[in-house]
Amino acid sequence: MKEETVAEWLEASGALTRGHFQLSSGRHSSAYVQCALLLESPARALRLGEALAERSSGHRPDSVLSPAMGGLMIGFAVAAALGVPFRFTERKGGAMELRRGFLLRPGERVLIVEDVVTTGRSTLETADLAVALGARVEAVAAIIDRTRGQAGLPFPLVALTSLELPSWEAAECPLCAEGGAAEKPGSRPGA
Ligand SMILES: [Zn+2]
Repeated sequence: MKEETVAEWLEASGALTRGHFQLSSGRHSSAYVQCALLLESPARALRLGEALAERSSGHRPDSVLSPAMGGLMIGFAVAAALGVPFRFTERKGGAMELRRGFLLRPGERVLIVEDVVTTGRSTLETADLAVALGARVEAVAAIIDRTRGQAGLPFPLVALTSLELPSWEAAECPLCAEGGAAEKPGSRPGA
């Protein structure tokens, strides 16, 4: 799959919106990504899953592990394309856990799949959990890499596209300087 196709789908699905936003970090940005909208189309989700599976198959994963919620749809699609089991981790009281009777075998080769990797925090938490349960993390696969190469992940990161969206401290935001007011993403009904 071409990087341009992913970029086109991000725009067409409304997953990538441009405007003036206040992010959860408090920083302001001129763009915002909501990957769930990209995956709203099952056909697109499956195609993206196939593309990520193709790029990850060299790591010979025995299974896919995704942190909920963001990783659920794309993780399932990648696992389906690879023909391996799909499991997910979830947060309980702040800690990442493997629940619902899911088990990892000792030495199992795990591919972690996420929609977007930004800081790598949830990826690392998921990886730490997998390792603590005796598995081996071979790689992480994501639709979008927003790390700017700075996540410092201790395993390879496979992505379909990378995205560098500008953001600023509120006091330095050029959009505020132009007199605009920032909105919180998703605060508009239907947005
Ligand atoms: Zn601003």
